[in-house]
Amino acid sequence: MSFAAELEKAIGVSLITDPDVTATYSKDQAPFADSSPAAAVLLARSSEEIAKALAFCSERSIPVVIRGAGSGLSGGANADSESLVISLEKMNRILEIDPANQLARVEAGVINLDLDNAVKEFGMAYLPDPASRDWSTIGGNVATNAGGMCCVKYGVTSHHVRALKVVLSTGQIIELGKATKKFVTTLDLTHLFIGSEGTLGVITEITLNILPRPKPPATLIATFPSITQAAAASADLLQYRPSMLEIIDQTTLKAVESWHPLGFDIAGAIVLMQLDENFELGEKAVSTAQSHGMIDGMFSTDPNEAVDLIRVRKLAYPALERLGATLLDDVALPVTRIAEFVNKVEALAKEYNLIIGIFGHAGDGNMHPTIVHNHGDLEGERRAKIVFAKIVEIAQALGGTASGEHGIGSIKRSLLSNELSPLVIEIQRGIKQLLDPALILNPGKKLP
Ligand SMILES: Cc1cc2nc3c(=O)[nH]c(=O)nc-3n(C[C@H](O)[C@H](O)[C@H](O)COP(=O)(O)OP(=O)(O)OC[C@H]3O[C@@H](n4cnc5c(N)ncnc54)[C@H](O)[C@@H]3O)c2cc1C
Repeated sequence: MSFAAELEKAIGVSLITDPDVTATYSKDQAPFADSSPAAAVLLARSSEEIAKALAFCSERSIPVVIRGAGSGLSGGANADSESLVISLEKMNRILEIDPANQLARVEAGVINLDLDNAVKEFGMAYLPDPASRDWSTIGGNVATNAGGMCCVKYGVTSHHVRALKVVLSTGQIIELGKATKKFVTTLDLTHLFIGSEGTLGVITEITLNILPRPKPPATLIATFPSITQAAAASADLLQYRPSMLEIIDQTTLKAVESWHPLGFDIAGAIVLMQLDENFELGEKAVSTAQSHGMIDGMFSTDPNEAVDLIRVRKLAYPALERLGATLLDDVALPVTRIAEFVNKVEALAKEYNLIIGIFGHAGDGNMHPTIVHNHGDLEGERRAKIVFAKIVEIAQALGGTASGEHGIGSIKRSLLSNELSPLVIEIQRGIKQLLDPALILNPGKKLP
């Protein structure tokens, strides 16, 4: 009997075993990350069902890959032919919305935007806003500690999590954190699971902060002769507590303009900033931008105009995708090192004869250099992979880190030893061993 048939019997639930279907549950959105159709997929409906499945797999050393929506960009939800995939997509109930205590409690498979829309009725917002928010799950967002544009002001997912229910690989169910706003009673195990990318346990329920809905934002758009000036301006603009602060380089701007002309001069770089309060600071922000050599700028408090003004940022990645196959990086570095970083990456693009467009969350130093090569060009693909690793090394050498948002998954594991000491690596392995003694959860991912 295959393990799937035995597991079906043990938990009394049918599994998906058709390889054509399991294939669709065995891969995320990362190009170049290995995967093959999993042996079986469980569309889980409760923590108890997951507990039984994990106890079964632990006893038999069957690898388990946890899956939200599969929107990840690091190969984190990729499976192999030996694995069981546990998908949380059916656990999508919003269990509680409590505006008075400013919290919501959800199952892990709830889509981020569905939660925000649900709390909107109460004048509240769920703020962490990854660009994938219309299809990524809250469980996946917690497991990757996802960020987004408004995180420069409101913080990333981890700043919004109060409590978790987690199923351990042994089949035990634990509750971590509290529904209270403050909690310092024990070691902070809640945050150990945030960003753990499916390697420590299955997150099945999450209690989150919801906040009064911010006002529609006012927007500043400013062009600069060089990325150096734009980066210096964006670091200076942080003083106004923006709810968005993005930067776009000239390569990306050219790609956008040649696809959807928005009427920008092809300047050295663009900075976009939004304020969701204190709009009177807009004029000062323009003066700050001018002091860094702004060529042209516009500040608007009209929310409809904002949609047009930030269109250039929304089009950045799709415009680069039109130019060929892309490899999207997501390093993070001190905001004061952005210009240096961009100049080094531009030199790398010349050296390796590749297009690299750079855009990103300037306010948190989280950059998305996007390496483009021709579709089907294996030599170009080889160079792109080398450059992908070199970009991480550049960021690390500037005091930055391999990933600010997308996580490590399988594609960046080899780059971690540059920024983690052997002792820190050993401690992480010890934690993994304690929580997942059979080492079945997402093997080959995240941990060095
Ligand atoms: C177009 C696009 C735009 C994106 N923009 C952003 C962005 O702005 N910011 C950002 O941070 N990311 C972004 N991402 C990446 C991705 O959307 C995020 O990493 C997201 O949080 C993944 O959620 P998911 O539900 O799809 O998880 P999956 O991709 O299914 O899984 C991601 C990881 O989490 C683990 N996991 C999933 N659910 C659970 C669970 N319940 N318990 C334990 N582990 C679990 C998986 O094993 C895997 O390691 C983008 C992706 C795309 C395709």
